[in-house]
Amino acid sequence: MLHYDVIVIGAGPAGLIAAGQAASLGKKVLLLEKMKSPGRKLLLTGKNRCNLTNTAPVQEALGHFNKGGLFLTQLFYRYFTDELRGFFAELGLPTVVQRGGRVFPESEKARDVLEILISWLQNSGVELITGTAVTDLIIQRGKIHQVVTENQTYQASAVILATGGKAYPGTGSTGDGYAFARRFGHKIKPLRPALVPLLTPGDTAQKLQGLSLKNVTISVWVNEKKLNQMFGEMLFTHFGLSGPVILTLSRQIVNYLEEGHQVVIKIDLKPALDQSALDSRLLREIQAQGRKQFSSLLEDLLPKKLIPVCIEQTGIPRDKKISQLSSKERKHLRSWLKDDFQFVISGHKGFDQAIITAGGVDTSEVNPETMESKLIQGLYFAGEILDVDADTGGYNLQAAFSTGWAAGRAAGSIG
Ligand SMILES: Cc1cc2nc3c(=O)[nH]c(=O)nc-3n(C[C@H](O)[C@H](O)[C@H](O)COP(=O)(O)OP(=O)(O)OC[C@H]3O[C@@H](n4cnc5c(N)ncnc54)[C@H](O)[C@@H]3O)c2cc1C
Repeated sequence: MLHYDVIVIGAGPAGLIAAGQAASLGKKVLLLEKMKSPGRKLLLTGKNRCNLTNTAPVQEALGHFNKGGLFLTQLFYRYFTDELRGFFAELGLPTVVQRGGRVFPESEKARDVLEILISWLQNSGVELITGTAVTDLIIQRGKIHQVVTENQTYQASAVILATGGKAYPGTGSTGDGYAFARRFGHKIKPLRPALVPLLTPGDTAQKLQGLSLKNVTISVWVNEKKLNQMFGEMLFTHFGLSGPVILTLSRQIVNYLEEGHQVVIKIDLKPALDQSALDSRLLREIQAQGRKQFSSLLEDLLPKKLIPVCIEQTGIPRDKKISQLSSKERKHLRSWLKDDFQFVISGHKGFDQAIITAGGVDTSEVNPETMESKLIQGLYFAGEILDVDADTGGYNLQAAFSTGWAAGRAAGSIG
């Protein structure tokens, strides 16, 4: 039977860096990937541009993670943005910082990130086998022993489980690793789609499909109580709401939906103006454009696609002369622009379209320095399989790279 010092399962970002680290410490390493090619999800990241990491300092970055993210504190002080950018720079892949501290490869091509990692693995001597799913792991006397695929059994001194989560299953991340971990006694925190587009009933979102609103404040209301708000950009789609702010807020919203609460999203279209400043602005416009129709007033206030929706929802006739708007109608328009443009959330797009999986292997059962299981000797975890998930901005990939780095170094240092 073939023996390897380290077998890494899953060739996503976590598995790729883990395999290369273990091999660069002189170990005989096998990387097994069930898809025909490695890094399928990595290629989709950042709209194919790959938002690798973020320049936010460690403490600020940790604030973008779920509670499980605290597990990463020690590790982030050892291997974080600078180390990751330095690693890629040494491999010949310079990176650039863009809006919000987001770090991308200078070429803005996710494919370049994948290709440079693959050639690093080849140079480090990692054996990569694709199109081969791991179907079982064998434990002997509390220690990892064998890895079973559809057509081979391998012996291993250490195994790194980097099978990812359940999000975007078409990329190969179908949650296989959770079943192995659970069988060996690991607790799995409930799995939920996170960073996921939201569904809305009716056809309003559909009518606005493709419209992106920048510089709006979106607030989340649960059972009529305001819970959270965020400023930024959102997008209307044929099924509901998406875009950066919606995806970020969805991490919290999904939990409330699953618990059966009523969730409403309100969109403040004029966040820079409070009610009285907005009223003064409306009065100025009314004075200046009195002879024109109500729809002309809206042209100065809203993107074109939103005008029919505003007219429908406020009930103010499109052709009403601006000078004839009553104070009640002006107040109604003002409220609509600030609070009353809202959507009931009826669901979400599920794992199929979630960027990340919330939940996973309970981090209290994993050594935060080495990523080794506290239950099974020689079994390591890396990447999204762990109960660690974060907002958009590069934090999820950084977590995958950092945990992969730590697991690879630790597994590569044994015996
Ligand atoms: C559309 C999209 C865009 C994203 N953009 C960003 C971004 O710009 N920045 C960011 O920080 N994060 C982004 N993410 C999240 C990021 O891609 C993930 O956090 C990251 O890929 C997780 O890495 P991983 O190695 O743990 O798992 P994955 O990338 O999921 O890799 C796991 C691998 O394991 C393989 N595998 C699974 N089961 C088996 C098995 N039984 N045997 C063998 N192999 C197996 C899978 O085929 C897969 O290749 C994005 C996600 C999506 C879906």
